[in-house]
Amino acid sequence: MIRLICPVKACGAPLGREPRALRCGAGHSFDVARSGYANLLQPQDRKSTNPGDTREAVAARRRLLSRGIGDGLAAAIGAMLAARGIGPGAVIMDAGCGEGFHLADACARLGAAGCGIDISTPAIDLAAKRYRKLTWIVANADRAIPLANGSVDAVLSITGRINRDEFARVLKPEGVALLAVAAADDLAELRDAVLGESTEKDRAQGAIESLAPRFRLEERARHAETLDLDHAALEDLLASTYRGQRRSQKDALAGVERMRVTSSRELLLLRAERK
Ligand SMILES: [Zn+2]
Repeated sequence: MIRLICPVKACGAPLGREPRALRCGAGHSFDVARSGYANLLQPQDRKSTNPGDTREAVAARRRLLSRGIGDGLAAAIGAMLAARGIGPGAVIMDAGCGEGFHLADACARLGAAGCGIDISTPAIDLAAKRYRKLTWIVANADRAIPLANGSVDAVLSITGRINRDEFARVLKPEGVALLAVAAADDLAELRDAVLGESTEKDRAQGAIESLAPRFRLEERARHAETLDLDHAALEDLLASTYRGQRRSQKDALAGVERMRVTSSRELLLLRAERK
């Protein structure tokens, strides 16, 4: 069961569900939008170095996913979680869930309940419209995650942000965190074409270190595939990957009808240390 808590500073009481609102015992109340999500973003948490995806970036991401890009990664994520016993009755939380595809896919595969958190309202609105059985929350997961202590079996962060102390707090004892980060050769051909550089820095080691010492690495795997993309898909990939893309980047794709692009992710499965 998803156990939401009140985001008001120094409150943190359980949030009860009403048809059109979430409400805590102290009387703090949060509207539930028509599409079904709730906005728990507090004024002090609005400031962020990561303002969240725009409506355009979110729409581009969904168009890519609707072509089947992401299916292979989703299967790999599902298999990794299933191998850890995540199944019916489990709760999965996705920090930085975007438009919700990976969380919804994992929950459908495994029969688990899901709570997706993202600071982007357009992303959460789109997620709530499509995946109605899951819980969708606008919040800044870099600050505070509005879920009860020890209420989550698995945390997902798919090229998302990492909040070690909050991940450890919301997880059950020995719960797991599954991170997907860009591998060094991720989108190498696209970066070469638009940025003039094809090597990406290795993010996996930094991700592992940012969770230490509260999590220990159990498994590290690589998921790579070659995507054969037409021009529209390349533009969507650019729009959904690089924030604030410059005109010159888009121009670099002019006249490119197709490109084979490597999609390459490191999958890191970490286990929370006993407190
Ligand atoms: Zn409250």
